[in-house]
Amino acid sequence: MLFSITTTHQPATDLGYLLHKHPDKLQTFKLSFGKAHVFYPEVSDKRCTASLLLDVDPIKLSRGGKNRHVSFALQPYVNDRPYVASSFLSVAIAQVYGSALNGRCKDQPHLVDQPLPLEAHLSAVSVDGGPELVRRLFDPLGYEVEVTQIELDPHFPEWGQGHLYTLTLKNRVPLQALLNHLYVLIPVLDGDKHYWVGEDEIDKLLKRGEDWLDTHPARQEIVSRSLKHRRHLMQQALAQLLEEDAEDSEAEDAPEEQTETTLGLHQLRLQTVAETIKASGAQSVLDLGCGEGKLLRLLLQEQQFNQILGMDVSHRSLQNAQERLRLEEMPSRQRERIRLKHGSLMYRDEALSGYDAAAVAEVIEHLDADRLKAFEKVLFKYARPKMIVITTPNSEYNVIWPELSAGQFRHPDHRFEWSRAEFQNWATQIASENGYSVRFANLGPEAAEVGSPSQMGVFER
Ligand code: SAH
Repeated sequence: MLFSITTTHQPATDLGYLLHKHPDKLQTFKLSFGKAHVFYPEVSDKRCTASLLLDVDPIKLSRGGKNRHVSFALQPYVNDRPYVASSFLSVAIAQVYGSALNGRCKDQPHLVDQPLPLEAHLSAVSVDGGPELVRRLFDPLGYEVEVTQIELDPHFPEWGQGHLYTLTLKNRVPLQALLNHLYVLIPVLDGDKHYWVGEDEIDKLLKRGEDWLDTHPARQEIVSRSLKHRRHLMQQALAQLLEEDAEDSEAEDAPEEQTETTLGLHQLRLQTVAETIKASGAQSVLDLGCGEGKLLRLLLQEQQFNQILGMDVSHRSLQNAQERLRLEEMPSRQRERIRLKHGSLMYRDEALSGYDAAAVAEVIEHLDADRLKAFEKVLFKYARPKMIVITTPNSEYNVIWPELSAGQFRHPDHRFEWSRAEFQNWATQIASENGYSVRFANLGPEAAEVGSPSQMGVFER
């Protein structure tokens, strides 16, 4: 598998400084799954090409027992991994071109941020999604894309085309940007990863996607394919991205924020939630999916609540909550009333047991509909507070907002928005399954026929 970078920046040999690889040398690097050779097939002041030949060793790969998903006995030995760009290439880029990937260039530091005319050529890329996927991923980043499908075997044209493509990607960007784009997007094209996807994968993705992923129109697809086998990781990553987004675009294009802040709707909703819980006599309360702590602030104002736990899947939200609530500066008696915890509503957690009440304000619509069952169990079966207050947008009201076109959600991360009937059916069902009663209320100004912007279900047992 050959990956070449060409530049026509003058002097083109600057590429050698940026990659930390001398144009006159052939260098070989040992990797855990084979070898990478770096050499320059073309070197002049006008044009310079650095090539990375990735020589994946299928025998090495087959050792280590990570081949649980083989479909035939020889698959660990006979497969396309040595010949195609996949997540192996990303690992090779990180190991062989690590300095360039991280934007370090000690000899010519001014080149690091400089957009250069660059062309990346990948001899064979496994693409699960055709040329459209390639364009969806690279067009928004400004690449001029050439995609050529490779015949399975030129001697047997009747065998047709495979899923492999030759890619040429041209752009005027800093080399670091090009490498980061490829690092993230090549495994996305392939739709598979050779190594176990773990927690640190999110950090890698966010680090490599810094500056571009949160505004990429296909970011959801990119995150989901990057973290393919671990759904909770994906949600965590999206939640983190989303937050960055919300912060960046608060004034411009976050429809939820814009439409709703003019009405003070969000604050009103949270006040109603806090009052409902207070009226139940609860002393200990959970705020699940607490975000940046707006409800926590209201709960803290009520001395009745002596134990408050805010939980969120997003580290950044929790950090913001900690800062906004000034937890560090709080007198210790106040401080002892509140705790923040990182966690997901998808997983059973002992720490959520024993509370009088729980609020889940504008959170469920961020959960994948097919994962709601897990959430129901975590909250209604295991945590089982005496009162649960859930709020969620009322989709019927969306017609009132002219900036939302038909069928569009209020926020890009919403997985669904329910009508009143849909919410009430769902809520009635889980209430009866788990021994709760439930009542409903409209939240916000009411309009004829369509109800209020948001809706609340109050569950009690
Ligand atoms: N309740 C807050 C924030 C609502 S935004 C308020 O009303 O202001 C939705 C929040 O749900 C985000 O902070 C997001 O990080 C969080 N969230 C999304 N999925 C989650 C999950 N699986 N577990 C816990 N929190 C989650």
